Amino acid sequence: MTSFDALATLCLALAQSWGGQAVPPLFPPPSMQSPAVATPDGGSSLLELTDEDLLERVRSNPASLGSLSIGTPGGGRVLNGVPLPPDPRWIIAPAAISWGTAETIEAIGVAVATVHELFPDTPPIFIGDIGHPGGGRLKRHQSHQSGRDVDFGFYHRPGTGGWYAVGTAGNLDLDRNWALVRALIVRTDVERILLDTRIQRLLYRHALSLGEDKEWLDRVFQFSKGSRDAIIRHVRGHRTHYHVRFFNPIAQELGRRAHPFLVQEGIVPPPVYTIAHVVRPGQTLGHLARRYGVSVNAIKQANGLRTTLLRAGRTYRIPVRTPAPPPDPVVVPARLLPPDTPAALSAIDWPTAAMPGPAGGAR
Ligand SMILES: [Zn+2]
Repeated sequence: MTSFDALATLCLALAQSWGGQAVPPLFPPPSMQSPAVATPDGGSSLLELTDEDLLERVRSNPASLGSLSIGTPGGGRVLNGVPLPPDPRWIIAPAAISWGTAETIEAIGVAVATVHELFPDTPPIFIGDIGHPGGGRLKRHQSHQSGRDVDFGFYHRPGTGGWYAVGTAGNLDLDRNWALVRALIVRTDVERILLDTRIQRLLYRHALSLGEDKEWLDRVFQFSKGSRDAIIRHVRGHRTHYHVRFFNPIAQELGRRAHPFLVQEGIVPPPVYTIAHVVRPGQTLGHLARRYGVSVNAIKQANGLRTTLLRAGRTYRIPVRTPAPPPDPVVVPARLLPPDTPAALSAIDWPTAAMPGPAGGAR
């Protein structure tokens, strides 16, 4: 307990010294409806910009677009990323690189604030890697490239745990962990939570014991029924933290639309595509280089070639730089809401599937 208190105090001190500013305001309680505004300068209204306006902003004032999430978590980048601000309710893990889109940062605040609404005396949670200010490859990770992935620590019982401690029945604070997970699912646009099956089982049983709807839990958790579209899924290595991926309705859609303009204006480099080419007899590296407009060296590098010899019939990878073909518009699915709220959690308002409106998750 004392170590948590000390950490909380340290965190507060850090918060107060942040750029000479006051402690950032606590995130307000999330609204009942799906919040569409996440960027400081108007948020969702940015989605109404015409392509002409968008190009003009890209040219004259890209910062006015707010955060853009471009590409995919496994191959992407961020424009106008924002840092996770200091806050007494979390501790940025040692060596963590914690920049993301404004929407992602806001979603972290909403989820953690919910835990504190339910349990006012909650110790801070560790937040690990999110991404680089401009996204892109982040060491230790395959994803975390487009500003939408966040590693959360667990809430542990007093005197146990720490950053990257393996979560167990003995050290996990199941009430707070379930409140966090429930808030991520019900109050944010979460896309995916990666979590070891052993911890899924602990949380599932705890949620059931609180009176959560079993049918809903079976759609939320993968381990129980193995549902392919479950939000919480097992991936090895997630017994020490949650890997949480958020949808960013604004940053993703605006990023998709602005990407060709950003490439055209030289603000971001064009993405590299790999084309598979089956070599016909007589074709040389020079042929391929001319045909695809890339250098001989680039082809050699992409295929690990030491010589210029190609073998007919073999498939070679050709790295092509080109503006991205426009992907489909980003559609964020309705939230997967439970039918009701167990009495144990009813101290605060939670959206449920029974509520009308855009946040109604009934499918
Ligand atoms: Zn992660």
